Amino acid sequence: MAGQVRDYWRNFIGGEWVDAADGRSIPIVDPASGEVISEVACGGAADIDRAVAAAHRAFESRVLLQMTPAERGELMFGIAKQLDGLADEIAEVEVHDNGKTRPNGYKEVALTQRYLRYYGGMADKLEGRQIPLGDGVVDYTVHMPFGVSAQIVPWNGPLPVGARSIACALITGNTVVLKSPEDSPLSLFLFAEACERAGVPKGALSIVCGYGAEAGAALVSHREVDHIVFTGSVETGKSVLRAAAERVIPCVMELGGKSAGIVYRDADLDRTARNVARGIFHHSGQICSAASRVLVHRSIHDVLVEKLRIEAGARSVGPGIEGCDMGPVISEKQLARIEALCRAGVQEGAKLACGGRRLDRPGYFMPPTIFTGVAPQMRIANDEFFGPVLVVIPFDTPEDAIRIANGTDYGLAAGVFTDDLRLAHWTADRLIAGQVYVNDWWVGGVETPFGGAKRSGYGREKGQEALLGYVQTKNVGIRL
Ligand code: NAD
Repeated sequence: MAGQVRDYWRNFIGGEWVDAADGRSIPIVDPASGEVISEVACGGAADIDRAVAAAHRAFESRVLLQMTPAERGELMFGIAKQLDGLADEIAEVEVHDNGKTRPNGYKEVALTQRYLRYYGGMADKLEGRQIPLGDGVVDYTVHMPFGVSAQIVPWNGPLPVGARSIACALITGNTVVLKSPEDSPLSLFLFAEACERAGVPKGALSIVCGYGAEAGAALVSHREVDHIVFTGSVETGKSVLRAAAERVIPCVMELGGKSAGIVYRDADLDRTARNVARGIFHHSGQICSAASRVLVHRSIHDVLVEKLRIEAGARSVGPGIEGCDMGPVISEKQLARIEALCRAGVQEGAKLACGGRRLDRPGYFMPPTIFTGVAPQMRIANDEFFGPVLVVIPFDTPEDAIRIANGTDYGLAAGVFTDDLRLAHWTADRLIAGQVYVNDWWVGGVETPFGGAKRSGYGREKGQEALLGYVQTKNVGIRL
C-alpha cells in the first residue's frame, strides 16, 4: 500500500472481480512523484469479450426492464448512498492516481452522487407520446434501450464522467461495459464496489481497465455492442467512429475543446480574471471545457493580462497531499506534450507572460502559463494543450472576436464577459459552441446539457437531454 492505495486491483466483469485472462497487469504511477504505487489487471480482448457477453446476457434476460422505472431510480440512489462509505478512499486514490487535490477528490464523489440522484429521479419521468390518429386507432411511442452500451472514459475525471453515462444507461434499461482509463482507473473500481453493494444485477455493469488500443478497440468493434459513449480526444474519437460505422451503431461523442472567453471593454476585469484563471488552471487545465483562449478587447489587454498574471502567481503548485492549489498533470508523456507545444508557441513568436516549462522537481508539474502576442493562426491558438496554458489574443470589434472564437476546429464551450446584456446575447447567438457561459466560467452543471459542436463531438451528456442519447423511439400503432 502507498498511503491508503491498495497494491492490486481486479477488473469487475459480470459481477465478479477477476484477474486479466492472460495474467497481465498495468502499473499505476503517482503523477506527483513519478513512482509506481499500485497495479491493476490489464484487460484485453478476451476480458472485453467476457464482459460484453455478460452484458448481452443481462440485457436479453430483461433483468433491468423487469424492474419498474422507479426501482431503477432507487438503484441509483442506492449506489449514491454506498459511495458515502467509500468517499475517503476515493478521494485518496484521486490524489494518487490522478493528481487531483484532496478537496477536488472529495468534490468528484459529491458530483458523482449528484449525477446518480439526478438521473435516479429521472428514471420514472421519461415519458412517451400518444399520437391521435382518429377513431379506432391507438398510437403511442416508447423509449427503447439500445442493448449493450460500450463506454470509454478519459483519465481526467473518470468517476463522474463514467458514472453519469452509466446512470443514464441503466435507468433506461441498457446494460454497460465501461473501459476505464489506463492512467487513472482506481476511482471507477471503487464505483464498481458501490454498484455491487447496492445490488446492481450481475452483468448489467462491467468495468474493465485496459489499454485503449487493445481493450478500447476490442470493445468498440465488438459484434454484440449496440451503442457507444466515447469521451476523449478527436483522433481516438475518429477511430471509434470508424468501428461504429462498420456496424451502424449510434454514438455519443464527447471530444476535445479550445474554448474561448471573449472579454469586452466594459467587463468587470477583476471578476473576469478570477473566472478565467479558474477556468484554465483548475485541475491543471486538464478539463475539456477549460477556458484555454481568452480574447480581449485591445483597449484593456494589458490590464487584464496583468491581473491574470497575478492570479497565476497566487497559485501554489505541488502534490495534492500537500494541500497545493494545483496538482501535477497526468503523465510524463502529457507533460512533454504541453512543453513541446509551449516551445512551438515561442518559436512562432508568442511571448510568455509566465510559466512555459516544467517545475524542477520529481513528478509532472507544469506551472500556470500565459502566452501573449498570440495570433489566431498560431498552433498554440488552435491545438488543445490539455494543461494549464492560457493564450491571450487581442481583438478590435465584436465581429473580430466572433470570427476568432469560431475559428478553430473545436466547438465545445465559449464565454462572454460584459455588463451589456444586449452584447452578451448578440455574442452568445453567434458563438458556435455546445455551451456559452456569460460572466463566469462553467455556469451550469449536472442539470444543463453538455456537449460539442464541430469536431468537439455530438450528442449531449448531463441534463435531461442526455437521456435521449440512450434510447430509441419505438412507435406502436394499434387498430382496435
Ligand atoms: P484519448 O482519446 O487518448 O483516450 C480516451 C480514452 O480512449 C482512454 O480510455 C483510452 O484508453 C481510450 N482509447 C485510446 N485509443 C483507443 C482506441 N483505439 N479505441 C478505443 N478506445 C481507445 O484521450 P485522453 O488523452 O485520455 O483524454 C484527453 C482528451 O479527452 C482531450 O482531448 C479532452 O478534451 C477530451 N475530453 C473530453 C471531454 C468531454 O466531455 N467533451 C471530457 C474529458 C476529456
